[in-house]
Amino acid sequence: MTPAPVPPSGPARTGHCQCRRVTYRVLGDPIDPHLCSCPHETRISGAPAVLWVGFDRAGLTWTGPGGEPTWYATWPTLRRGFCPRCGTHLVSVADDSDTIMVTGFSLTDRSGTDPVGHSYRQEAVPWMTIALA
Ligand SMILES: [Zn+2]
Ligand SMILES: [Zn+2]
Repeated sequence: MTPAPVPPSGPARTGHCQCRRVTYRVLGDPIDPHLCSCPHETRISGAPAVLWVGFDRAGLTWTGPGGEPTWYATWPTLRRGFCPRCGTHLVSVADDSDTIMVTGFSLTDRSGTDPVGHSYRQEAVPWMTIALA
């Protein structure tokens, strides 16, 4: 039997969708905050880049009245969670990953989440210029 993953220690932060039906808490330090401009994601989000911030998946708790978001498999190895009432894109998780990626702008406290990289920079629109942390 595989032991249950040990939740990380460290500070808690919260996040929520626009209507607050789906809210969450994550623990520990942010992992690899980065922007992504892949064609898949820019279409889903409607934005030229998405800010992703990783946290230890074992420290994630869904805390709102709606429980978990509605999950969509948008890629063969990836699921994304959206609020079923307001549609906010909240999280993304790869099948075999120990890290949950939350959308940076769903976080209540964005300290320490300045992006350190930009995936698919070459796919980004040329008019978007970004100074990375
Ligand atoms: Zn909502
Ligand atoms: Zn992407």
